[in-house]
Amino acid sequence: MIDSKFKSGFVTIAGKPNVGKSTLMNCLMGEKLSIITPKPQTTRHQIKGILSSDDCQIIFLDTPGFLEPRYELQKKMLEYIMLSLKDADLIIFITDADNFPTDYDQKIIQLLNKIKAPKIAILNKVDLTDPDSCKDHIAVLENKDFDQVLPLSLTNEPDVAHILKMIKNYLPYNPPYYDPNELSDLPMRFFAQEVIREQIFLKYRDEIPYSSTVVVENYKDFPNKIVISANIWLEKRSQKIILIGKKGEKIKALRQAAEKEIYKITAKRIKLELWIKIKQHWRKKKNALKEFGYS
Ligand code: GDP
Ligand code: MG
Repeated sequence: MIDSKFKSGFVTIAGKPNVGKSTLMNCLMGEKLSIITPKPQTTRHQIKGILSSDDCQIIFLDTPGFLEPRYELQKKMLEYIMLSLKDADLIIFITDADNFPTDYDQKIIQLLNKIKAPKIAILNKVDLTDPDSCKDHIAVLENKDFDQVLPLSLTNEPDVAHILKMIKNYLPYNPPYYDPNELSDLPMRFFAQEVIREQIFLKYRDEIPYSSTVVVENYKDFPNKIVISANIWLEKRSQKIILIGKKGEKIKALRQAAEKEIYKITAKRIKLELWIKIKQHWRKKKNALKEFGYS
């Protein structure tokens, strides 16, 4: 039985790169990060984690980065951002005290102004700057359309219980969207896909991250190991050569890093097979975008 005091809702985390979005997610999710989206086809690139407790379920949505809509893919991404913002019961805007306010921050804040949901601003990395600058930044944020402004340092033992309480405060009374008992058994494909994608973003520069997409074709969970097979789709042969690297060194590093990350969550030996495929100009082709789950 779920009582009427149960709270459940969608929380979107938005902010420019490198401000601490992943760190925030890791802090809030703690050990429970193994909980991943149940419907990869429909929620791809959106659900980052689901946190369930006795009286509350928080579904964290991710924003795939704020990009100029120059290509079809990026237009899609902007649509996603708007969608995940519109769906949200709460928006957490996060920025860093060390580098604020940038044009990027202003742009995001402008975009958020159009959204009705309650909004919290987290000013992260206060450890990197002096108290006076922090005060100025807090004043800037308080002048914007935020319900609450929270300065903190996520890498210096933040008060996680306090942050969660604050989030819960803004969530509506609602039964849980996902059955907490089923969540831990969900397929990890989507998670694996996101890990590989993240490693591509970390390990390659320029056009490679934006020209690639990852599709996990097979995910087999054996008692002592997990075997995952994934396709990396690129636009051009020249990108394939870059992705593989000299004597296959780069792709090997990518594979090993992804295996390590997936191991951290599953605690099982991971055997990852990566296949490189080419579809010319896939970013500009609506059909291909659909095939890869971007619509
Ligand atoms: P994301 O790109 O927004 O997901 O940012 P990450 O969570 O990956 O964080 C970017 C970097 O900032 C990482 O190296 C973090 O360890 C670091 N970082 C996060 N929070 C803090 C903080 O409060 N203080 C300091 N000094 N570094 C932080
Ligand atoms: Mg991140």
